[in-house]
Amino acid sequence: MEDKKWTCKSCKAFLGFVSGDGKTIRVKYKDLYLYAEGGRVRLLCRKCGTENELIDEEYRKLLESKLSERR
Ligand SMILES: [Zn+2]
Repeated sequence: MEDKKWTCKSCKAFLGFVSGDGKTIRVKYKDLYLYAEGGRVRLLCRKCGTENELIDEEYRKLLESKLSERR
């Protein structure tokens, strides 16, 4: 699967790459290199400061099932 670009939801600035299955995120900036797999990631846009969130579909389901357990 090909990587998709993750862009800021408000100014469309480039934030990083997301793997085709949506599980792996790669963010590179100067000497920072971030690699995240699964779960939920929040990143502030370097241009406009908007908070961008990516959530792994399986993680989202897990959270939902945990919430329903408490009911
Ligand atoms: Zn932005």
